[in-house]
Amino acid sequence: MRYAILADIHGNLDAFRAVLKDIEDRGGVDELWCLGDVVGYGPEPSACLSLLMEYPHVCVAGNHDWAAAGRIDTADFNQDAAAACEWTAGQLTSPEKEYLQNLPLTVTRGDFTLAHGSPRDPLYEYIFSYLSAEDNLRSLGTAHCFVGHTHVPAVFLSAEGICRKQPLPPVLRLGGRSIINPGGVGQPRDGDPRAGYAIYDDAVRVIYSYRVPYDIAAVQEKMNRAGLPEYLSLRLSDGL
Ligand code: ZN
Repeated sequence: MRYAILADIHGNLDAFRAVLKDIEDRGGVDELWCLGDVVGYGPEPSACLSLLMEYPHVCVAGNHDWAAAGRIDTADFNQDAAAACEWTAGQLTSPEKEYLQNLPLTVTRGDFTLAHGSPRDPLYEYIFSYLSAEDNLRSLGTAHCFVGHTHVPAVFLSAEGICRKQPLPPVLRLGGRSIINPGGVGQPRDGDPRAGYAIYDDAVRVIYSYRVPYDIAAVQEKMNRAGLPEYLSLRLSDGL
């Protein structure tokens, strides 16, 4: 079976569509594994949710998903994120909010745990360092974990008691225990503005990571028209 690993779509329909087209061009997948933050920041939250529903998928809750659905508050959000969240909440229908409210914090699939931020603190913890990865791996009930939240592709690999951080390579053979971040679909933050995602093929135990160009200017225009904070649209071109 093949699975597409998608994190942080963030209401960016153009990026999401470009990624889905890329997946089809590569032979398709059996299921989407969505790591949360389907909405927030971007101009088309409802359309992103509808598109996700068209595919067999599992999805965990991101902080923006629960905040836009009213399940948590935005006390931890910066000003732009809180403004975008409020705008997003005004766009979503009741069934869409209900779907987001009911998203689980973690999901287990085979020897993978799926979480938005981290397995021990799914909504809020950012795994940037090998130290936090190591702490999370210690209490992890599966060998591997996919996370999003940082919007930065990376792999934290623990073998023979040593945990190391490395950039996510184009082809990663699973070994040891690991935490893997496929990067962000709708708001990449590693300096590469192209949408990031991964495909996991369990027959060969390999994770392939990809970057996909999309029409950033079109999304920025939609964001400006919606009155979303300017910084949020500008950062899409920088991928930061
Ligand atoms: Zn996010």
